[in-house]
Amino acid sequence: MNPGMKFADLHLHTYFSDGTYSPEEMVSQGRRSGLAALALTDHDTIEGCVRTALACDAAEMEFIPGTELTAEQDDNELHILGYFIDIQNPKLLTEMARFQTVRQNRIREMVARLNLVNVPLTAESVFALANCRSPGRPHVARALVKAGFCSNLDEAFERFLKKNRPAWVPKFKMSAADAIELIHQAGGAAVMAHPGLNRADEVIPGMVEAGLDGLECFHTKHSAGTAQHYLKLAERFHLLVTGGSDCHGLNKGKPLIGTVKLPYEHVEKLKMKAAERRATTAVSTSCTL
Ligand code: AMP
Ligand code: FE
Ligand code: FE
Ligand code: ZN
Repeated sequence: MNPGMKFADLHLHTYFSDGTYSPEEMVSQGRRSGLAALALTDHDTIEGCVRTALACDAAEMEFIPGTELTAEQDDNELHILGYFIDIQNPKLLTEMARFQTVRQNRIREMVARLNLVNVPLTAESVFALANCRSPGRPHVARALVKAGFCSNLDEAFERFLKKNRPAWVPKFKMSAADAIELIHQAGGAAVMAHPGLNRADEVIPGMVEAGLDGLECFHTKHSAGTAQHYLKLAERFHLLVTGGSDCHGLNKGKPLIGTVKLPYEHVEKLKMKAAERRATTAVSTSCTL
């Protein structure tokens, strides 16, 4: 590897969603793995961004404010990454607060369904453990393990939390087009996360139509062949290329941060695209005045 080259990890979670690291721990791990830049992409929240930015400053690393929005198209749950977003954008904050309420209500519903199958977990125990506004199934899984109802997270998902298991609850999701628009109006660039996990390539043209800016070609769970496949699709649809580890701290065994190293040139292109989006949003705003 060329020692002069810079790398980024553009897909990371902290304990502000379902990761286990604090922002400070995540940044220190990122520094240890030699990253020049990192993006925080917690699910449906940007709460960790201020602390991550401060920690990156102290570590002399570049910070990219981001999020991973839960969305859907044609019955597929899709995750849309937003990069270089304005974390004070009122519409983004309002929509996220709405979605966080959806997530909290869903936890209550999952717990009610667990109680129906004689697993006496309480919603309070899940909220106490999650200690964040954007709780999800991994927190229910951890609470099930902590209370001794399951011996590990996989068992919790397999027995109760996977789709069509007793405690699975569907969740309301915005459309992929709305998620892309929300990111754009917050001044960011919109990227489809881990397309190789969705196996729904047929949704890509519609998302391109809606203004998608990039594809996460490099991801921990993409094989070399899968990465190649999405690099080709990115080229065909004139989309930017991104990549990240999707590290959730110690949630899924060993920490993944830095295992996907995206060459920095892709960050520069993404930055330019977000600046372009901001310029066009500003123009369209001034036209409507
Ligand atoms: P939710 O957004 O609440 O539906 O939860 C989705 C999260 O659950 C994602 O971060 C997944 O990575 C995680 N997840 C899904 N299956 C498993 C599993 N078997 N073990 C641990 N985490 C999982
Ligand atoms: Fe997650
Ligand atoms: Fe995701
Ligand atoms: Zn993620």
